[in-house]
Amino acid sequence: MKNQIIYFQDGSPMEWPYPVKYNQEHEVDTEVLVLGGGISGCWAAIAAARKGAKVALVEKGATIRSGSGGSGVDHWAWALDNPCCKVDPVKFTRARINARGGYGNGITNFINSITGYETLLELEQMGGKIRDTGDEFKGAPFRDEETKLMFAYDYENKTVIRVWGATFKPALFGECKRLGIRVYDRISATSLLTEGGKQGGPVIGATGINTRTGEFMIFKSKATVLCMGIPSRNWIFSSELRGLSSFVPPNKVGNGHAMAWRAGAELTMMERSIPSNFDNPYAYPPYGDGNPYNTWYPCSIVDAEGKEIPWVDAKGNILETPEERCRPSAWQKYFIMVPGHHEGYEEYAMPQLIPDLKERILKGEYKLPLYADLARLPEHERRVIWGMMIGSEAKTKVPILKTYSERGFDPERDLLQSYFMLRGSPMMREPAVPQDRAIFNGGGGLVVDWDLKSTLDGLYAAGEQAFATTGHASAATSGRYAGAKAAEHAMKTRHTPVAPDQLEREKLRVYAPVVKGEGLEWKELNAALCRIMQNFCGDPKSEELLRIGLRALEDIEQNEAEALFADNPHKLVRALDVLDILTCDKIIVHSCMARKASSAFLNFKRVDYPEVDPPPWHKWITLRSHNGSIELRDLPIDFWEPMKDNYQAHKINIA
Ligand SMILES: Cc1cc2nc3c(=O)[nH]c(=O)nc-3n(C[C@H](O)[C@H](O)[C@H](O)COP(=O)(O)OP(=O)(O)OC[C@H]3O[C@@H](n4cnc5c(N)ncnc54)[C@H](O)[C@@H]3O)c2cc1C
Repeated sequence: MKNQIIYFQDGSPMEWPYPVKYNQEHEVDTEVLVLGGGISGCWAAIAAARKGAKVALVEKGATIRSGSGGSGVDHWAWALDNPCCKVDPVKFTRARINARGGYGNGITNFINSITGYETLLELEQMGGKIRDTGDEFKGAPFRDEETKLMFAYDYENKTVIRVWGATFKPALFGECKRLGIRVYDRISATSLLTEGGKQGGPVIGATGINTRTGEFMIFKSKATVLCMGIPSRNWIFSSELRGLSSFVPPNKVGNGHAMAWRAGAELTMMERSIPSNFDNPYAYPPYGDGNPYNTWYPCSIVDAEGKEIPWVDAKGNILETPEERCRPSAWQKYFIMVPGHHEGYEEYAMPQLIPDLKERILKGEYKLPLYADLARLPEHERRVIWGMMIGSEAKTKVPILKTYSERGFDPERDLLQSYFMLRGSPMMREPAVPQDRAIFNGGGGLVVDWDLKSTLDGLYAAGEQAFATTGHASAATSGRYAGAKAAEHAMKTRHTPVAPDQLEREKLRVYAPVVKGEGLEWKELNAALCRIMQNFCGDPKSEELLRIGLRALEDIEQNEAEALFADNPHKLVRALDVLDILTCDKIIVHSCMARKASSAFLNFKRVDYPEVDPPPWHKWITLRSHNGSIELRDLPIDFWEPMKDNYQAHKINIA
């Protein structure tokens, strides 16, 4: 095929710079196949290789920096096995899950709690920086002088470790190379191959498309681990306005969820979405405005006249010093970063700014705008926020720390304006427009068991691809565990021949957009899908709205989607992404229809079923695609219990 012309932003033309190889096949044989080279994917590949398996790792971008944690991470939650922590992992994990109304993943959460530090130590061996070796923070209340580990948020219980996470991804990538893992960068996985090409059959490999050449990749495996993260761009999409304010990398669109669905795997919690300021096209780059959350915790906030906004504990007691913000009050247990103060979980809730701040601003007690005042903090707190944390968190090292510093921002002198009472803040306090939603961390995903195996043989899931799994350390620990389990399975499994008709069907599907000379651009389709989701699957929901939404999605699938066209491999992959967004939208709508009750914990409001969290609906609803219909099933909310016994029965020696 003739190379296509592409255009730079200034309009000047250039020929597509890579050879175009549509329909050409490239076959790879492996024992363990890992799809997605982010945090969980790298760990899965490393663990499988250490178990002696032949491993191939497939990544849509460049593994060295790809994924949500590719550019960094500033805190490693949870590492209850670290030598300074005295918290009981079973009680802690249960408390965390209960604080989410039970809608957490007991399996990946427990693996995280109990192997978080062990995993971090492995990372240190690979070259990741996890402790204050240079004694920069000697004497700080968050530092353990013996181990030089530095803790965040809860200085008393030491459950979360501050880390120099910008060093992590290159270290993981280096370890993959050192172990001889074959890394296939710039390949977008498109489908799972199943025995006999049958939906619901054991998984025996996957297909992919080279994002530069369009070549068709066939991976044959004995075990496959899905690590492609959560869906995004389902309600909000703006390629023009968004820039850096998109929270997750925009190439994470739920390809993994869509291909697992097509293969017949079971998913759950897909009805959960949250109003998201994080993805708002007007949002600031994450952590790029002054605020007191996460990376910026426990920064002081002042009003336009320099009056400090008080901090309070969950009972409303005023906390005078920054250090008090980092220790549970005498009546509390430990902090588990409860998202919002759910009644009954105050003993775990982190301090916050006065909850009636908005009302007090409206009454004139505090004057807008507000500012983060780093200068007010003790020196070690200031330096650890503006320096280590901002220098390590995803997407902040260059856009925030470097850029602001080069432009003259001086944390000892300057205030940084806080927009969290105005439109566009990435902070949760600001009410987002209800239809501006996102799946977000800890969202729905594949149903997994104590082997992190999905409901299909040979298929494992880790990180955000496993249901209700959230955070960097959880991705790392679950990836590491799933990789080892996949290797164990691969060792006792034979290769199964791939069904030729399944490959042919997939080729027809993936190359459909390139055989047309013209048609619909992927961006237009993405925007249209978002509009449907905003209108019919926003907040609140009802049977009628959801039905109309589903009809509209099916209509688009049968008509406009057929007109999608791509004139180079990059656009081809973008077009396939949007088709997967459409598939994820349908899964979301079906899930929303299946839950006939409202739920505070799932951010799920049904006007036709207004009762909130009624006991009969306190359960997981799973769904899978089977022979053209949708099959629903219930799982008890705590189906993984007893947590400790199950872990002991299934645990695997990884190192
Ligand atoms: C801005 C930001 C800040 C964060 N800060 C923290 C923090 O401080 N602490 C914390 O615990 N967590 C944090 N998180 C969350 C954490 O980064 C994620 O939970 C974690 O990276 C998830 O790991 P994962 O392996 O599931 O997904 P990722 O690490 O995102 O990896 C998914 C990978 O799959 C690839 N992929 C997608 N589709 C395909 C395909 N079709 N074929 C091949 N490859 C594909 C992607 O390119 C990506 O590399 C943050 C996230 C963001 C976005």
